[in-house]
Amino acid sequence: MKTVSNFDRIGEENAFAVLGRAGVLAAGGMDVINLGIGQPDFPTPENIVEAAVKALRDGHHGYTDATGILPLREAVSADLHRRYNTEVSPANVLVVPGGKVTMFTAILMFGEAGGDILYPDPGFPIYRSMIEYTGATPVAIPIREENGFAFSAEETLKLIGPNTRLIILNSPANPCGGITPKAEIDKLVAGLADYPDVAILSDEIYDQMLYDGEQHVSLLTYPEIRDRLIVLNGWSKTYAMTGWRLGYSIWPDRLYNMARKLAVNAWSCVNAPAQYAALEALTGPQTAVGEMVAQFDARRKSVVTQLNDIPGVSCITPKGAFYAFPNVSQTGWKAKQLASELLEQTGVATIGGPDFGTLGEGYIRISYANSQENITRALTRMKEFLAQNP
Ligand code: PLP
Repeated sequence: MKTVSNFDRIGEENAFAVLGRAGVLAAGGMDVINLGIGQPDFPTPENIVEAAVKALRDGHHGYTDATGILPLREAVSADLHRRYNTEVSPANVLVVPGGKVTMFTAILMFGEAGGDILYPDPGFPIYRSMIEYTGATPVAIPIREENGFAFSAEETLKLIGPNTRLIILNSPANPCGGITPKAEIDKLVAGLADYPDVAILSDEIYDQMLYDGEQHVSLLTYPEIRDRLIVLNGWSKTYAMTGWRLGYSIWPDRLYNMARKLAVNAWSCVNAPAQYAALEALTGPQTAVGEMVAQFDARRKSVVTQLNDIPGVSCITPKGAFYAFPNVSQTGWKAKQLASELLEQTGVATIGGPDFGTLGEGYIRISYANSQENITRALTRMKEFLAQNP
């Protein structure tokens, strides 16, 4: 049997392997605390669940429009208008089965041998995996601790060359929790005027998870790049709906039809009751979102304090998402080995920084989407482990 060589180049998201291993250890009787996977530990709010149940009872059992039901696309437009005071037509909204599907589609659209795609390092691992799958050359944009884990406009613009097709941005960011300040985004967008053929994919899946009074700056608010901007967003993180497999993207007119055709070829449409649930998520009360973010904020502060209390570990305060990215380079451990031993020996699941890129060496990712009590238990174990295994 011979498969095409592209498939050998597909990478992975190690968070799923860690989730699997954590499950095996837990089934074997270990008290596992999962700070590995990036998903809210809250249930989907009840009004959203009820909307899905109602949709099922109302007979929404068939295919829908491949782009998503119109009321949902209209609700996405209204939501973006409410939050960013920006106009997005429902005709530019594509409802997709998860945020990942947007990056998959955009990278497929722009990636081919001979083309460069810029992506953040450390960054969400699927960006690089998909770029390599297409045969395009992955060009890493360094995301540095000394820069607050934000994108540097200057460094990003310097990496653009004659073959650059697409730039992937992500703020608030996974895995570091950094946000890129407006001044830096202004500079980046101004510089992009010199490269009108370069497309931009802005991953804004964490756009409602910012702390310390920070405001999200959506790339949608820059009209000068709208005709080459793809925005990735969805319900997974904001409404604790990771398992519903649902997301949306905004495409410029000239790309929308291509993305729509891929949808028709690949998934036909998104699960119908899930779309009605998503509609309720956007149009119903938003109190649950605020409550979740408030809890994440309290845990964030506690995680940072506790991490900085561990000898050899230092952690800057993340400003967004629900991840901390402590520097463990002074512990004497290689990051991946530390993450692996923490899981095997203490039952604490984290992800080694190198799983997010070469600049992730020396760091581990802690997802604080777990209870305060579990976070404290986990970090106490980590502190004891490092004291006993210097
Ligand atoms: N983008 C980033 C930066 C993420 O961290 C994730 C999930 O972890 C996704 C996209 C994918 O989200 P979804 O679960 O909706 O596919």
